[in-house]
Amino acid sequence: MNEPFLQRPTVLVVDDVPNNIEILLGALERDYDTQFATSGAEALALVQSEKPDLILLDVMMPGMDGYEVCRRLKDAPETQNIPIIFVSARGAVQDQERGFNLGAVDYITKPYELSILRARVRTHVTLKRKSDLLEALVSLDGLTGIPNRRRFDETLKTEWRRAIRERIPLALIMADVDQFKNYNDFYGHGSGDDCLREVAQCLMEAVRRPNDLAARYGGEEFAAILPDCDRDGAHHVAERFRKLVAERGIVHERSAVAPHVTVSAGIAAQLPTLGELSDDLLKQADAALYHAKWNGRNQVYSGVIATMPFI
Ligand code: GH3
Ligand code: MG
Ligand code: MG
Repeated sequence: MNEPFLQRPTVLVVDDVPNNIEILLGALERDYDTQFATSGAEALALVQSEKPDLILLDVMMPGMDGYEVCRRLKDAPETQNIPIIFVSARGAVQDQERGFNLGAVDYITKPYELSILRARVRTHVTLKRKSDLLEALVSLDGLTGIPNRRRFDETLKTEWRRAIRERIPLALIMADVDQFKNYNDFYGHGSGDDCLREVAQCLMEAVRRPNDLAARYGGEEFAAILPDCDRDGAHHVAERFRKLVAERGIVHERSAVAPHVTVSAGIAAQLPTLGELSDDLLKQADAALYHAKWNGRNQVYSGVIATMPFI
């Protein structure tokens, strides 16, 4: 999670007049990575691939005007948190009001002092960075540093909806450290915590695609969301995780399963359709995990379990 906060912030300048762009870029380049677009459509296309930390947006542009660009950016969940500052010669109160009502954080009227513009940009970029950091922290598990249950639940809901829309499968892995109570009792809670950190690292290593999400589900339980992945694919990832943990060789004298720490995992995968619930997929994965435990632990189970919805 450190990376985005170490990089220089990015500012996107949108204006149909190249000369205006040049002036703004000249003033900002020393402190920010800069991008520019000469139309609203170009700006919207650009933010799809790379999200800036702030947008300086001209109001009057041929084709799509700045208000419309702002409205669309604020409508889409992926872009609604990018702060927008309008930069415009239209300085009437109604124009500014309209900009703020559309969700802009500031409105700078032309002609402006570059030093004042720079100061306002700095203020909003700093705020944006802080709220990004806060958001990242509340979705990370304090012990292991990997995404937490809250992030897992949110991601499961969004990926479930995306899978329905795009008609792609979705797979889940539920995993649990074997005989971890004995480990804690014998080696102490501090060593137990260290062990959980190592297991978390193994899961992060096992899960490789950019849209995959590995999380600590709670206690000594871990989980992963694998979008566009079928049962076999998920089995493969879970097996990689199981092996990575075993290969670490974390000594566990009180395990009846192996002389080292092991994990069990259950898989569920399906092609989600409207009317079905992501909770049921979670229950399936949990039932598969239970089966892996029952069958001797230190293994992955990806068979279908008949869950009983009425009891
Ligand atoms: P099984 O193989 O059936 O999973 O057995 P188990 O002992 O792993 O399962 P059980 O649910 O009985 O015990 C889980 C233990 O995990 C109990 C608790 O002490 C430990 N635990 C849960 N969260 C933490 C944590 O944050 N730190 C440490 N050190 N231990 C934890
Ligand atoms: Mg356990
Ligand atoms: Mg458990």
